[in-house]
Amino acid sequence: MKYSYTIGKIKGIEIQLHITFILLVWGILAWVALTDLPMFIPSLVFLIMLFGTVLLHELSHSVVSLREGVKVDSILLLPIGGMASADLTNIPAQSEFKIAIAGPMFNIIMVILVLVIAAFIPNIFPVAIESDVEFLSVMLNYPLFAFLYINAMLALFNLFVPAIPMDGGRVLRSVLAMFIGYYRATQISVKVSTVITIGMVILGFFSPSLRILLIIAPFIYLGARAEAELSIAERLLIGVPITKIITKKPLILKADLTLTQAFKTLKEKNQTSALVNLGKNNYRIISIERLIAILETEKGRKLLGKVAVPVIVLHTEDNCADAYKAVIRTEGDVVPVFKKDKLVGVVTKDSINKLYRFRAAEIDIATKGR
Ligand SMILES: [Zn+2]
Repeated sequence: MKYSYTIGKIKGIEIQLHITFILLVWGILAWVALTDLPMFIPSLVFLIMLFGTVLLHELSHSVVSLREGVKVDSILLLPIGGMASADLTNIPAQSEFKIAIAGPMFNIIMVILVLVIAAFIPNIFPVAIESDVEFLSVMLNYPLFAFLYINAMLALFNLFVPAIPMDGGRVLRSVLAMFIGYYRATQISVKVSTVITIGMVILGFFSPSLRILLIIAPFIYLGARAEAELSIAERLLIGVPITKIITKKPLILKADLTLTQAFKTLKEKNQTSALVNLGKNNYRIISIERLIAILETEKGRKLLGKVAVPVIVLHTEDNCADAYKAVIRTEGDVVPVFKKDKLVGVVTKDSINKLYRFRAAEIDIATKGR
């Protein structure tokens, strides 16, 4: 994601912090330092514990993903939580189930661990909490209790709210998929998610202490919709070979063009993106949006090869469902297609969208015309 910074690597997985996350943590610490200095260290401990737990939760998903043969590129920490980037489509229901349940299981184990420790050490838990203000200070003064609370919340929220894209939603979908197939399971899960989102909005609206739900609901709604679209696209396009929609003669620009020259060529050819040839069958991509943004700030001093970005690559044996996913994830409107190591053409966003509409119409006509 844009404005993310890599802070390290675990098992080949990049750990990234988003700028909003860094600003939030910095803001909280600065505020505590200025208003209540003695609480600075407890606040720091609390934040490390909170985001350490979120990170370990995501790592638990990722470790199981890797074991199930699903590659994980990165884990991104955002103010709303963690996000592991992995291609979770096309995996067996059993694998999805194991991956989804791994995160909450980690939290449940932590809860049990803390409870066992608490059984042996007296006075590490607060006796009673009376108000919201007191709750905050209790969280800072009883780190082990805070750790218990964070883990219990993460487990409960992720596991018992069966809304995609949360863990509970994935657990529900994978269990359904074992009986009725991936496509219908997704359809049902998305409907369940929509109902839950509406419930969250109503709850958040009427209950001041649950206002946070108003922030979470849109993320769940959008996540569920993306998931629904992906599963429909998968069903419609998986049988179509990619060679059906390849554009054989794509626009390819040289890496040593100036940005102004590149802009002129794109304009002349009426294209919104182009491949950039770095030589030795190595290609990058430049989109008109990126080009314009850089032209406005850098005044075109750099060469095209320096500003073009890496691309997702497809192969001639891939199908159009792969192309659909690649087109969603890519920057620009084209995805290069290779046969072995040689470029044979591109798939454009336009051609995949048209194919999608035709296939959807075909299915509609076939099912309604019965
Ligand atoms: Zn999770």
